[in-house]
Amino acid sequence: MLYPWQYDDWERIQVLREYWIHALLLYGPTGIGKTNFACELAQSLLCDRPRADACACGGCLACTWFLQRTHPDFRFICPENTPLKVSTDKNSNNYPPIDTAVSANSKKFKSLSKEIKIEQIRELLDFCGISSHRGARRIVILSPAEALNMVAANALLKTLEEPPSGVLFLLVSTDVKRLPLTIVSRCRQWPLAMPNVESALAWLGSKSITDPALTLAEAGGAPLAALTIARDGYAPLKQCILEQLSSGKNCAPFSFCETLQTAPMPLVLGWLQRWVYDLLATQMSGEPRYFLSHRNALKNISQNAAPFRVAQCLKRITQQRAVEQHSLNNRLVFEGLFIHYRGLFRGK
Ligand SMILES: [Zn+2]
Repeated sequence: MLYPWQYDDWERIQVLREYWIHALLLYGPTGIGKTNFACELAQSLLCDRPRADACACGGCLACTWFLQRTHPDFRFICPENTPLKVSTDKNSNNYPPIDTAVSANSKKFKSLSKEIKIEQIRELLDFCGISSHRGARRIVILSPAEALNMVAANALLKTLEEPPSGVLFLLVSTDVKRLPLTIVSRCRQWPLAMPNVESALAWLGSKSITDPALTLAEAGGAPLAALTIARDGYAPLKQCILEQLSSGKNCAPFSFCETLQTAPMPLVLGWLQRWVYDLLATQMSGEPRYFLSHRNALKNISQNAAPFRVAQCLKRITQQRAVEQHSLNNRLVFEGLFIHYRGLFRGK
């Protein structure tokens, strides 16, 4: 099912139905439901009896196969370490289809590949080389497309340059800049809108979130990211970090960076990036964007740091985020960044 904020995008994309191209690049911020949107689109294009609003019927043979992850004319390609999405709604798509036995917190999960590998693309090319099982369209979703490693991207590129008849590629991306230009140029780019606040808050309210407005702000307006934050087992650790960051010059990186090693790098870098962004926003406009409940602390420490140095710190964190999926020594990275952060502040 589409999320409530996706109906405008859904209506907008229907203009493509008459002239489906062979590759569509759906992009937008993390946590707005891009992959879900791509799956709904795929299911509706495979459906035998689409509804008047162009959504899949949910009950035909094609839909049944799709929902059971067994449709022979559909492939979903993602990195091995993509967490399983489990839906309790029988009409919701259950992609990505990862082995349920592998929990996202297990050691095995952490050792799985973060990349879409050449073997996956080779298998995909075999799929593209045979004819459609049902004599109709075949659909491939790649999510997130920026997880394609260089070799895999080159192999895919050849197929995008000479697209097999009747195959539609749906590439999903949070960060188009990280995709090879050659891939991007072979796709029709399609931005997905940020959800409007009312619809996002109403949806979060239906999930029994304690403080939807604060959580949605922290997630930068992305409802699924807000739900993840609200249900995140690392919330106590985040509170500890924010307290340390609130103390500016007195922040003590060596006392907590060891604990931080247990948390995923993207999660911690995300906290730090949003915090430093808020520090700069407070200096520029007097108001933070993400951590609204820490408004006063941000105002206090923002007076003791030069804005250009805060901007440099933000740039450094952003650069670190670009390589956050690579195997690095988490502790060294965190200590380096927190020491840099502490150095922003004048006085005691
Ligand atoms: Zn159907």
